[in-house]
Amino acid sequence: MPESERDDRPHLVIVGAGFGGLELVKRLTGRRAPEHDYRITWVDRRNHHTFQPLLYQVATAGLQPQDIGVPVRALARRRPAVRVRVGEVVDIDTAARSIAFADGGSLTYDRLVLAAGAVTTDFGIPGVEEHGLPLKSLRDATAMRDHLLRCFERVSARPVQHDDGTLTFVIAGGGPTGVEVAGALAELIDLVLRRDHPELDLDRVRIVLVELQEQLLPTMGAFSGRAARKELTRRGVEVRLGVGVSAVHADRVEFDDGTVLPARTLIWSAGIAASPLARTLGVEPGRGGRVGVDAHLRVRGIEGVYAIGDIAGTIGDGDALPQVAPVAIQQARHVARHLTAPIGVAGFRYLDKGTMATIGRRAAVAELPFGLRLRGAPAWLAWLVLHVLLLAGFKNRVGVLFSWVWNYVFRDHAARLIIQVAERSPATPPGEDERERIQVDD
Ligand SMILES: Cc1cc2nc3c(=O)[nH]c(=O)nc-3n(C[C@H](O)[C@H](O)[C@H](O)COP(=O)(O)OP(=O)(O)OC[C@H]3O[C@@H](n4cnc5c(N)ncnc54)[C@H](O)[C@@H]3O)c2cc1C
Repeated sequence: MPESERDDRPHLVIVGAGFGGLELVKRLTGRRAPEHDYRITWVDRRNHHTFQPLLYQVATAGLQPQDIGVPVRALARRRPAVRVRVGEVVDIDTAARSIAFADGGSLTYDRLVLAAGAVTTDFGIPGVEEHGLPLKSLRDATAMRDHLLRCFERVSARPVQHDDGTLTFVIAGGGPTGVEVAGALAELIDLVLRRDHPELDLDRVRIVLVELQEQLLPTMGAFSGRAARKELTRRGVEVRLGVGVSAVHADRVEFDDGTVLPARTLIWSAGIAASPLARTLGVEPGRGGRVGVDAHLRVRGIEGVYAIGDIAGTIGDGDALPQVAPVAIQQARHVARHLTAPIGVAGFRYLDKGTMATIGRRAAVAELPFGLRLRGAPAWLAWLVLHVLLLAGFKNRVGVLFSWVWNYVFRDHAARLIIQVAERSPATPPGEDERERIQVDD
């Protein structure tokens, strides 16, 4: 009988194979875990783990989707206590201790860990849902890549003299994702598409990055914000600060300062909210739909349920932590300790080891402990090393490293394939993750 079918152990269900879920499974079943206290069912609606920090490189043809995705079943291999269930959880009955799947199935649990992450939110801004391109999954990233490349093919096939917005790319949100997309897109156009399309005048291209706050990278210090702005401007990106998107149409974007830009691309990196699964718990969600937890990351007021990572909100009376990978990983480690040996475990404390954002070749910003701030090539090298180390799977590390060296040496973005079968109308987003997008008021 497989180990996972020995029924005497309590059943632990982990929802989510992202950063939090993966770390938890590793901690509970790795070589250092003395014995398996639980039989574990590991659930995800996708059959793969996604390394989200590098999605923008798939979207800009620097990496292949499989470089940053790993099958969950491969990650669960050689972990006999773990059984994988691919399916979307749509409801949680905390009284009956069961979860329900969209495909009609259900599972009961003794302990449940919610690591279901976050979804894109449009804050109710008209047109973002219909026309904005989100970046949350591999499907989003490949759809964005297809769309970006198609814009150039379209202009090449049917040159127009007036600016109809096909070569204007608006990126909403000047956080790390917006900055990284803007830098990578500028690089793709300058280093690669310029050579691919000698028939086009690519000086007409506009990349416009808009940020509601008065600085880029608002969660980092002013030094990093200024450095990112300077570097992006040098690479031809127009940075507009203190401006928000107020409406999006198929052929133009409206801003809250009254200006309108003809554009057929809006990349939406301006907002996320906790997974809608949080709402099925029956507890009042906090800011951004996130679930309040106690010092051991147990959902307040519910027995046997933990929440970690992007879905988790305020801890006790404290503040909510940033929705970043290190928080999810550290919280997973804490829950692993608490699940296996709860006595004497001190409450969770987040150790902030710093923040980084990359802009392009030899350009990044990093804020590290002890007030250490880096920019330019040293920050870029630190970013490269950290991201290779954090990737799940040896093959992925080698693949990403190889692609980076190739792209750097040959000034190439070799993955510039348009692979979606049907052409969507310009600036129409893909369908898969539609239901992930919800509106929140704050
Ligand atoms: C484009 C982008 C760039 C980023 N860059 C960085 C960065 O540079 N550095 C950094 O630290 N952080 C970055 N982040 C944030 C980081 O990826 C998240 O904070 C981290 O992934 C959160 O981990 P998690 O385990 O909570 O959720 P996730 O890693 O998002 O995993 C959630 C998992 O749950 C699954 N799931 C969701 N709902 C259901 C359901 N109903 N049923 C079944 N399965 C479900 C999902 O398919 C997913 O696999 C970035 C995020 C994005 C989108």
